[in-house]
Amino acid sequence: MKNIAVLGSTGSIGTQTLEIVREQGDITVSALAAGSNIALLERQIREFSPKLACVFDEEKAKELRVKAADTATKIVSGMEGLIEVATIPESEILVTAIVGMLGIRPTVAAIRAGKAIALANKETLVTAGHIIMPMAKEHHVPILPVDSEHSAIFQSLQGNEGNRIARILLTASGGPFRGRTKEQLKDIQVEDALKHPNWSMGRKITVDSSTLVNKGLEVMEAKWLFGVKAEQIQVVVHPQSVIHSAVEYEDGAVIAQLGTPDMRLPIQYALYYPERRSLSGKRLNLFELGSLTFEQPDTETFRGLSLAYEAMERGGNMPTIFNAANERAVALFLEHRISWAGITELIEDCMNGVAYRKNPGLEEILETEAAVYAYIDGRRRE
Ligand code: NAD
Ligand code: MG
Repeated sequence: MKNIAVLGSTGSIGTQTLEIVREQGDITVSALAAGSNIALLERQIREFSPKLACVFDEEKAKELRVKAADTATKIVSGMEGLIEVATIPESEILVTAIVGMLGIRPTVAAIRAGKAIALANKETLVTAGHIIMPMAKEHHVPILPVDSEHSAIFQSLQGNEGNRIARILLTASGGPFRGRTKEQLKDIQVEDALKHPNWSMGRKITVDSSTLVNKGLEVMEAKWLFGVKAEQIQVVVHPQSVIHSAVEYEDGAVIAQLGTPDMRLPIQYALYYPERRSLSGKRLNLFELGSLTFEQPDTETFRGLSLAYEAMERGGNMPTIFNAANERAVALFLEHRISWAGITELIEDCMNGVAYRKNPGLEEILETEAAVYAYIDGRRRE
């Protein structure tokens, strides 16, 4: 029996993780955490009987304590609660399916407690990869990628220990606005940005895919996970999302992982690694597809990706500035308070305006996040 804890159990990755638990039948769920959706969390508590559940929002946690009073699940709240979920003694694997930098502290706590990390929460690696990766090594804890591209790279690395990676080919669907000009992107509405052509995901990552910020975050994520330089990572736009990414070796061999777009496969691979289990769902049919196509990313129109490369090059706390600015900008866009093009404008503004720090520790990273939010609030009052 495997034993897991899930941060963000009510979200897109969280619910698909629990689908796998349900389908496989040999995983115990020790702890769950969610932001505020207590109706779904209550159903999950009744189905999976975790020892512990966290609702970030204290008021909602109080409500759930009343609703789930007849169960044996202890209900906690806040950051302390998230850390309790992340470090619950029974679990071996923590699935980080929470959105944003909020995941940093629980992930660090889980690593220190010796938990393997099934990592979906890419923002944690983008901002604190230089701390998390050495820490995981020191505690002999694997970081197993859940992001589909990174899982594909990880799968393409199997059996090649000791062989040097020449390049990583990181595929991108291009998002819903691929091929459009700046002029055509002026009147983008929230609903347009929330329509992804191939994947059904949470709102924040769906918007990130439309700006190519998601691909920028993924380049940084790949850099930390696989120990390569930014210039070794080539983003390849591949609108069908069938090749999930590939690794090119020194001899020129390119090994890729293909499949229908279904996040349950990378989630299941992370949970059972190195074992492969049967998985229900549509199989890849190459005849039905007919052809696969590839393009260069349009980094002039979609500044999200070029700004990410710039943030990586400048290093220090610049990826944190990039990420925190994006987190706030996406929230403002979803509230109809800034335009779609305003997202990358705000990121660029923060990258130029917020104080640079060369070697940020965890505290400086969290301080940078706060400094970005204060900077944005100041700009919006001007
Ligand atoms: P989502 O919005 O669907 O779900 C987020 C989850 O986090 C929810 O359960 C929510 O309750 C929880 N949450 C939010 N605020 C919280 C808080 N303050 N405390 C505790 N829990 C909180 O998001 P998602 O699409 O599942 O994405 C999760 C992570 O996985 C993100 O980092 C995303 O980039 C990454 N990811 C997602 C996909 C995908 O297909 N959805 C693919 C690759 C990577
Ligand atoms: Mg991805």
